[in-house]
Amino acid sequence: MAKKKKYVYSFNEGKKEMKELLGGKGANLAEMTTMGIPVPPGFTITTEACDEFYKLGKKYPEAMLKQVEEKLKELEEKMDMKLGDPTNPLLVSVRSGAAVSMPGMMDTVLNLGLNDISVQGLINKTKNERFAWDAYRRFIQMFGDVVMNVEHAKFEEALSEAKATKGVEYDTDLDAADLKKLVETYKQIVKKETDQDFPQEPKKQLRMAIDAVFGSWNNPRAISYRKIHDIKGLLGTAVNVQIMVFGNMGKTSGTGVAFTRDPATGENKFYGEFLMNAQGEDVVAGIRTPKPIIELEKIMPDCYKQLVEIYKKLETHYKEMQDLEFTIQEGKLFLLQTRTGKRTAAAAVRIAVEMVDEKLITKEEALLRIDPNQLDQLLHPQLDSVAKQEAELLAKGLPASPGAAVGEAVFTADKARDLTEEGHDVILVRTETSPEDIEGMNAAKGILTARGGMTSHAAVVARGMGKCCVAGCGDITVNEKAGQFSVGDTIIKEGDFITLDGSTGELFKDKIPVVDPELSGNFGTLMKWADEARKLGVRTNADTPKDAKVAIKFGAEGIGLCRTEHMFFEGERIKAVREMILAKDLEGRKKTLSKLLPFQKQDFVGLFKVMKDKPVTIRLLDPPLHEFLPKEEKDIQELAKEIGVTIEKLKAKISELHEFNPMLGHRGCRLGITYPEITEMQARAIFEAAVETGAVPEVMIPLVGHVKEFINQKQVVVKVAKEIMKDKPYKVGTMIEVPRGALTADEIAKEAEFFSFGTNDLTQMGCGFSRDDAGKFLKEYVELGIYEKDPFQVLDQEGVGQLVQIAVKKGKKARKNLKLGICGEHGGEPSSVEFCHRVGLTYVSCSPYRVPIARLAAAQAVLKASKK
Ligand code: ADP
Ligand code: MG
Ligand code: MG
Repeated sequence: MAKKKKYVYSFNEGKKEMKELLGGKGANLAEMTTMGIPVPPGFTITTEACDEFYKLGKKYPEAMLKQVEEKLKELEEKMDMKLGDPTNPLLVSVRSGAAVSMPGMMDTVLNLGLNDISVQGLINKTKNERFAWDAYRRFIQMFGDVVMNVEHAKFEEALSEAKATKGVEYDTDLDAADLKKLVETYKQIVKKETDQDFPQEPKKQLRMAIDAVFGSWNNPRAISYRKIHDIKGLLGTAVNVQIMVFGNMGKTSGTGVAFTRDPATGENKFYGEFLMNAQGEDVVAGIRTPKPIIELEKIMPDCYKQLVEIYKKLETHYKEMQDLEFTIQEGKLFLLQTRTGKRTAAAAVRIAVEMVDEKLITKEEALLRIDPNQLDQLLHPQLDSVAKQEAELLAKGLPASPGAAVGEAVFTADKARDLTEEGHDVILVRTETSPEDIEGMNAAKGILTARGGMTSHAAVVARGMGKCCVAGCGDITVNEKAGQFSVGDTIIKEGDFITLDGSTGELFKDKIPVVDPELSGNFGTLMKWADEARKLGVRTNADTPKDAKVAIKFGAEGIGLCRTEHMFFEGERIKAVREMILAKDLEGRKKTLSKLLPFQKQDFVGLFKVMKDKPVTIRLLDPPLHEFLPKEEKDIQELAKEIGVTIEKLKAKISELHEFNPMLGHRGCRLGITYPEITEMQARAIFEAAVETGAVPEVMIPLVGHVKEFINQKQVVVKVAKEIMKDKPYKVGTMIEVPRGALTADEIAKEAEFFSFGTNDLTQMGCGFSRDDAGKFLKEYVELGIYEKDPFQVLDQEGVGQLVQIAVKKGKKARKNLKLGICGEHGGEPSSVEFCHRVGLTYVSCSPYRVPIARLAAAQAVLKASKK
């Protein structure tokens, strides 16, 4: 007979490496147990059991329940207590926990094992009647909500009513008799809402709770959380059953959460919050405002000292910033959770760099620890400090997640999502957020809450998303129903603009301008390490001196793509461009092109001056001509008048230029082939500017699918170069963005000195997805898993990637020193950058703000490859 599968592990049977099987929470509880840290004993039901539970149509795998019984018995013997015992009842928590932490997304039940009889046992044993009734009412509330699907608000209403009747403010002001009454009320609520009695049999309670935790794996908010954070391929959630310890037993009990370093700034100091006489959830739920951890030193110096020792031990052991949960029961400290702490990008960078200084980790580990995409947070604007001083400060809350956000106030998550989809910038304003708000939080530019601390739901989730958040802004009163909030006499209605500074906790009226961030200090250090490690060059896509300057500040080593058509749209130029398009004959075209020449030349001079001796790749005109013509009736009339043709004639010309499928139409090198004078003018502008500034330009011919197209255009360019550049250096190369071009890259490379993969078009033509229309179905494609990611965002390595690989191989064979780059959107996307490194490209080119992301991703590509 095959060996029976093990579905249940005691905490002393696991270790931190077993996350996949035991979930993060279970694996770390086991690790801490082995390290000798005080953890209430318990056991973990594996994620495999959860997986099989779903595969069996929501039934437990055969041996599981029996193994649970065995482990429970072990626990009972160890504690010398019994689940549901009338005199000495054992109480447990039932906690979810997947391999990847999903804070607040799945369900937990505390105080399980209480019923009408065992509550008496708890009273006799603890001699604390108030505590026992409080534990029981909490149990009914959590179990009712999580397991029996009774609306949470029903219990909250009853609790508020109990406090109101008594005329008190806090839960802690209710005494034993009040709570006992509340237990009755709660039981009636359960009966009324579910038509069932509250289950009294503890083993049944346990089974129902396990069911609920498994079930919570697929609740809408957990699914939505996994989608937003791109968490895939997990088996399910583990279930941890653990002996209860009580933070609500009076003045010498309490509970808290803490980080081994400051999760907002990364500063190496103990950081956290706690509440005395409270149970777990109270801290994060933002019901009472917790105290900063340092105050624990005064209240319970011994516990504080022990906690400091433990946090240091944990950080050294994990070599990573930890996020802890602890509970103190009558002066005795217990740890209930440790995990890698979520942090802002600024904190991530500071912690990684400082841990290298502290010799805790190596430079390579530091580089690998930072998610390149997270750097985005650091690169984006902060509030302009001068404008900020003049702005109207409305209120100050907690600096829960840094950065700046400007947007219209909205009061529901749905509204935040809807308005964002319509293109508005919004700030989600709530009394406090809950896990149901996750989608709206993701959509909003920033989050503002009236209640809750630095570890409230809003704060934790916002930091995870890298989103600006001001929490616990107690001076504002939010009226979600009316769609407004007030601060003193000021009323802010839905749609009114507000500004948040998440680094200071400030809330301002109206819009405040934002400015670019500083990139020195720890960030600079990390980037230096990345540059030492990477092999890929990093260039930028920039069309203007302004963009180029930003990119250089971010570390760009050249321009990989300058789109010349952007230079055609401004002011006087568009007029000349339109005249050129509408010219009757070659003569007319040449005349108007000569008007454009000085503009183009000046643009290039500006760009070359900023780039100095860095390489600049300039792409010749690419889009279909009709894009330059007016569409609105009014503009058409105006243009007709300006150039002196009848409206009918102009309209006829416009419809003549109309194409059914412009992306596959008269564009790219096809334009230059039919109108060589355009290519000639552009080449002249480039080379004259190069002579003036000493630049070494790289001229790039777009949309080449056949080598003869390339030769045709190269001849025009070379002819102009001979005249202007004489023997000064320059290059002529091509975009590889048409599949035929990739497949015949050997032919093309004989003629072209460099390739730049235009992966936007290559994806469009490789997958056959029109970029402008794919929005209608691609989202669904990704949801269905047909494509794992949107191929316009993340390079489709298996398909489009093959075209790149073929072109690289064939191209290099024909020309050994062929320079290879990528200039599609993918050039700044970390997994695509890794691919570019693997297939041997020379450089990637991306938008200025993504340059640091590409630098780090390129370094990680080298480190990951050497690990394999
Ligand atoms: P989450 O993953 O949402 O943080 P947890 O399983 O960690 O959920 O539990 C929620 C709260 O209950 C936490 O504050 C935790 O510390 C507390 N808690 C869980 N188990 C116990 C226990 N055995 N004794 C006391 N408090 C507990
Ligand atoms: Mg927890
Ligand atoms: Mg293209």
